[in-house]
Amino acid sequence: MGVNAREMFSMSASESADPASSPPERFVVEVFSELRPETIQKRWEDVNVILRMSMLTGLQMQLDATLNLLCDMAADIAPFDKAIVYFWDENRELMEPRIARHVEKTAGKEIASGNILNVWAIKYGRPLLVEHGHHAQSDALLLALAAGSALAVPLFVSNRVTGSLQLFRSTASTARAFCKEDAQLLWILSLVAENLLTREYANEGLLRFAFTDYLTGLRTRGYFEQQLELEFKRAERKQQKFALLMIDIDHFKVLNDTFGHHVGDQLLRDVTSILVKDMREVDTVARYGGEEFVIILPETTETGAVFVAQRLRRAVDQAKFFAGSPHSVQHLTISIGVAVYDTDAQFKRDLIEFADAALYAAKHAGRNRVMCYSELARKEGREVS
Ligand code: GH3
Ligand code: MG
Ligand code: MG
Repeated sequence: MGVNAREMFSMSASESADPASSPPERFVVEVFSELRPETIQKRWEDVNVILRMSMLTGLQMQLDATLNLLCDMAADIAPFDKAIVYFWDENRELMEPRIARHVEKTAGKEIASGNILNVWAIKYGRPLLVEHGHHAQSDALLLALAAGSALAVPLFVSNRVTGSLQLFRSTASTARAFCKEDAQLLWILSLVAENLLTREYANEGLLRFAFTDYLTGLRTRGYFEQQLELEFKRAERKQQKFALLMIDIDHFKVLNDTFGHHVGDQLLRDVTSILVKDMREVDTVARYGGEEFVIILPETTETGAVFVAQRLRRAVDQAKFFAGSPHSVQHLTISIGVAVYDTDAQFKRDLIEFADAALYAAKHAGRNRVMCYSELARKEGREVS
């Protein structure tokens, strides 16, 4: 492995110049891109873990799978009680916790995007060995995770810090705190993983591009189908409900025929901006086709879904749309069908079909309204009996 700019870094010089140097400098570990013979002798099993990683760099993997693997290998080299792997989210422009071991990604503000070890990982581009009693923010993080010590290693994409691997050992743990050798070995692991991460990160970017609707900027139908699949698995596992809204613009053809496709496209974008406004981060808003949209609302009951649907319906109903010029104000309405897992449907195809049936019923009942599949099923039940 050749010498690179990262190798030149050494905090020990500045620390000896200023023995009272304040954190976080004291946490930064001096590392090299080559291992010392003593380290190789003493920790040859861990060196083998790194070699394993280097052999995998030709594989085609998803970014999450790569980060999971990295976490597994880090566990072999430096066993931990808890771990979080952060990676840069280009859309939201923040470090996102992608992998979490023995800790919830939503466990508190210390773990969220402002995580102090990420800030330092970006600033220093070096591993950090963190202990109690030197810095208020890192103390708060250790406390939140009931940890006695932490080891954070930056992850690189094309030579830029794009994430960090953060390991924590519990205060209760009888095991020793992380040491400089752990940091050195994980540093090499991170360098070896760089090519793989760079490729997977680029692939993820391409995928994101492929899953974006060119006209509205919304997610595509393909993305929606995948996300719905995931949502079914999650809801099953957590035994929670989730809702699907199917939305269609009323009498859109008339507007299109009157003002032309160009104006129609602009109106689609205007409706889109109303649909995405005030949505939660966990919700998926996608263009299903033409002037139809779908929204997945995780952890939502029928009552919650109707509340959201009515809010959207009203917002469109009350908005002023400009058909090509400020002088041509148009009024638009939407109809919405609602179906809920697992009250209405237990399977993906059924859920889509039922939301669509409810939408059709909303159209039939006069448009500009919200219809639930449960209501429809009740009515049909009555007609049959
Ligand atoms: P309904 O209330 O029953 O939904 O009536 P509608 O006119 O909206 O429904 P219909 O399905 O008959 O027509 C949908 C129209 O949406 C057809 C097409 O003119 C228009 N449309 C579909 N996709 C696009 C698009 O990408 N851009 C534009 N400008 N128009 C589109
Ligand atoms: Mg329509
Ligand atoms: Mg339609």
